[in-house]
Amino acid sequence: MFILILGAPGSGKGTQGKLLAERLGLPKITTGDLLRAAMKDGTPLGLEAKKFYDDGKLVPDAIILGMIKAELDRPEATEGAILDGFPRTAAQAELVDKTLAKRGQRLNHILLLDVTEDELVRRMSRRAQVEGRADATPEAIKTRLQVYQRDTAPLIAHYAQRGNVRHVPGTGSVDQISEEIKRIIGR
Ligand code: AMP
Repeated sequence: MFILILGAPGSGKGTQGKLLAERLGLPKITTGDLLRAAMKDGTPLGLEAKKFYDDGKLVPDAIILGMIKAELDRPEATEGAILDGFPRTAAQAELVDKTLAKRGQRLNHILLLDVTEDELVRRMSRRAQVEGRADATPEAIKTRLQVYQRDTAPLIAHYAQRGNVRHVPGTGSVDQISEEIKRIIGR
């Protein structure tokens, strides 16, 4: 089973994705974590990504598409995965759709975590203090929200056309949201 968690930065994708992955025994693929690991290790990919990441901009598809393909093709992900933090662009969505379709698979559930912009800014600022992320300056936070609206939010319409996007109220306790997700996907 493939489950995509969509939502703005700060909407709780990582938290809910982790709980869901644990509950269903599926791997979670998180492009943000992969990029942070590459930056920490100082790999060429990490160094290139950092130029965009720190400002809150999207890392170009030229870098991300290969990463996504490699992750989806890993043996652990042949039966399913939780997709967290991607697709974020039309090209990424197309790659995911095509890769799964070739294997006779599809995104079984698309969950959209709905959180107001005020709450997103509050959460991202709070998290910035805890995690010390490079992309957590007020400017980078603003850019991340703008980039989400411009490049990623249109994917909601793309998937809504197929009729399997479910809105999940993203405010409430972690447990409440997790229960709601459980109810929606039926397990
Ligand atoms: P996240 O941890 O998902 O909030 O991502 C943090 C940052 O990593 C984003 O602001 C982008 O710079 C980069 N990033 C993560 N995933 C992607 C992706 N699928 N496409 C492009 N950039 C990404």
